[in-house]
Amino acid sequence: MTSRCLCVLNAGSSSLKFALYRVMPDGAPRRALSGEVERIGEKGRLLIAPTDGAAPRETPLAARDHAEALAALAALPDGPLTAPGLEGFGHRVVHGGPTLTTPVLVDTAALAQIEAVSPLAPLHNPPAITVLKALAARFPALPQVACFDTAFHRGHPAVADRFAIPDEFYQAGVRRYGFHGLSYEYIAGALVAHYPAVAAGRVVVAHLGNGASMCALANGHSVDSSMGFTALDGLPMGTRSGSLDPGVILWLQQQKGWNGDRVEHFLYEECGLKGLSGVSNDMRTLLASEAPLAQLAVEYFVYHVARTAGALAASMGGIDAFVFTAGIGERSPEIRARVLQRLEWLGFTLDDAANQQGGPCLTTGSARPAYVIPTDEELVIARHTLALIDAR
Ligand code: AMP
Repeated sequence: MTSRCLCVLNAGSSSLKFALYRVMPDGAPRRALSGEVERIGEKGRLLIAPTDGAAPRETPLAARDHAEALAALAALPDGPLTAPGLEGFGHRVVHGGPTLTTPVLVDTAALAQIEAVSPLAPLHNPPAITVLKALAARFPALPQVACFDTAFHRGHPAVADRFAIPDEFYQAGVRRYGFHGLSYEYIAGALVAHYPAVAAGRVVVAHLGNGASMCALANGHSVDSSMGFTALDGLPMGTRSGSLDPGVILWLQQQKGWNGDRVEHFLYEECGLKGLSGVSNDMRTLLASEAPLAQLAVEYFVYHVARTAGALAASMGGIDAFVFTAGIGERSPEIRARVLQRLEWLGFTLDDAANQQGGPCLTTGSARPAYVIPTDEELVIARHTLALIDAR
């Protein structure tokens, strides 16, 4: 019998990631292959990695836009869009705005709502909308589910949800939304499954990848996040500035005469680890570099992770555990060690050997535990998609 399948899609500004899930006899989705179309709009490439041990494949692919990238995937005989038993699609949509607070089956009304909040994430929502529309045209009978990175944070108290600006702007949608919510939702579920006593407490989670943010989880619910209105706020990132005095933007406009597009490109592409170091946006390269500004960029990153941990602990009235996840958090013992050394005053005592081995617990015998938990945003999307398709 052909097993049921779902395809999960994650459209970035110039990439399209995908994963195919098979629904197992117990009803749980399990990843069967994953891949990515990289550098859409340029001479890019297509990567496909099956999970059955077959060798990953890489082919050049020059897709002009996300619709062309999708057409290339649809032409693959063994790709994610031609799998027998395909029953629907799940999407990561970065911004759900104030109204889209749970995953939704995408119909005309939901699509209009997603389009309406697009100005809040002008680099990220439009490619997801292109993919939603292209799939609706190609597979009109198959359901699509949109899952929002902002949704997990929608229960924040007003003091964490607002800026100190007039209320009319809040009503117009200028709020501290928080992002990486699908990752935090996965971590919250993993804590319940593996460390239930910890899950019931106050946990600071650090999603440290090319994009980076941190979340205060109280009894499994997000109560504050380092990211705000856009995914620019908070920690320094690969190429994004993180928190910046708004006066810097005024200075760029007034003294350098930069317009909105120039400022946007600067903040999203030219700052963060790359801008500060002048060397690279890649943490591995920075850790291996002896250039003084590369070393400063690493220290700046570590300092701000630790500083934010203190702030998020204060937002919960204390901290019971700390979790590292995403590329840097999962793979860099050095960054984890340096962060935890700065958090010793909060009761985290690093176990060097455990950290070098990748945990999962990094703090044997310490007053408070810290863990490494690999995140899986696609699995969260696959679960929501399956639940909504089955509930129709
Ligand atoms: P992500 O966006 O979650 O894929 O994470 C990408 C980031 O993880 C990049 O900055 C990489 O340099 C970083 N990264 C991946 N592997 C390692 C590693 N072994 N050590 C340090 N950083 C790493």
